[in-house]
Amino acid sequence: MRAMLVRSPQTPFESAVLPIPEPGPGEVRLRVRACGICHSDMLTVFGAWPGIAYPRAPGHEVAGTVDALGSGVTTVEVGARAGVGWHGGHDGTCRSCMRGDFITCKKARIPGISYDGGYSEYMIAPANVLAPIPDALSFEEAAPLLCAGITTYNALRHSGARAGDVVAVLGVGGLGHLGIQYARAMGFATIAIARGRDKEELARKLGATDYIDSQNEDVAERLQAHGGANVVLSTITSGKATTPVLGGLAIDGKLLVVGASMDPIDFVAARAIGSRISVQAWPSGTAADSADTLRFSAQSGVRPMIETMPLERAQEAYDKMMSGAARFRMVLTM
Ligand SMILES: [Zn+2]
Ligand SMILES: [Zn+2]
Repeated sequence: MRAMLVRSPQTPFESAVLPIPEPGPGEVRLRVRACGICHSDMLTVFGAWPGIAYPRAPGHEVAGTVDALGSGVTTVEVGARAGVGWHGGHDGTCRSCMRGDFITCKKARIPGISYDGGYSEYMIAPANVLAPIPDALSFEEAAPLLCAGITTYNALRHSGARAGDVVAVLGVGGLGHLGIQYARAMGFATIAIARGRDKEELARKLGATDYIDSQNEDVAERLQAHGGANVVLSTITSGKATTPVLGGLAIDGKLLVVGASMDPIDFVAARAIGSRISVQAWPSGTAADSADTLRFSAQSGVRPMIETMPLERAQEAYDKMMSGAARFRMVLTM
């Protein structure tokens, strides 16, 4: 099989031909049909995640078909359409797992980091992290929903916002363009916030009923004109650009952060207490959440905007994602 490997941190992808792997007990082999490229793939490329064993094939937005079953697997059949996202395994014994909270498992495994992921024609995954892919979604469409999709969908559905509430999505990019669609499909009054006017037309097409240009408008003031946002879903990485939305939250409003960044957000207690606002961060979700994301997307018409490239062009696709030029998710096809 063909795989695109990171041989060692900060080196270009290397095209390799490897033996097709055999699934162990409780595992399945997936024939990968599409794999989305996520910004977090840089953790493998840069060696920024502790303990990665190289060479490693990245990729945690994997859509394909079940190709072979390891011993003891009874939950899926060969030929089933299935996907794997960030949640690639849990130990079943830690404090989180004992509470059924598998996404926060202390020994969580991640495809493309803990083991070879979807930048490959075949991969092995535990059977209990597979999510069924509805027929209405192509493999290319399903792939980005398994990280970018689940992250925004699962965060929003747990945000406490109810139909009719004001939900703003900060950033119209890989995560944001999905966040807008989910917010609208869930019945929220959806506001998009981004720099400049370039993305306004698209944001409105995706379902935003208002658009705020954060460069030239007072974001807090504009949100307060709507009565304040019950939830702001932040998909961006700049703390400085996120901070102003705190002033635009409604009473009991929530800043919901899914854009993984090391950049601090300024939270001033004296300005927050009076309106009981809160900040919450959210990590994607488990296989069950992936299944819900895919089903909801299929039934509500939410689709990622993608650009596909063949597996062999992983370097070019990855570089395009990293440069910010992707509109909006790059997907490798096999
Ligand atoms: Zn991801
Ligand atoms: Zn655990």
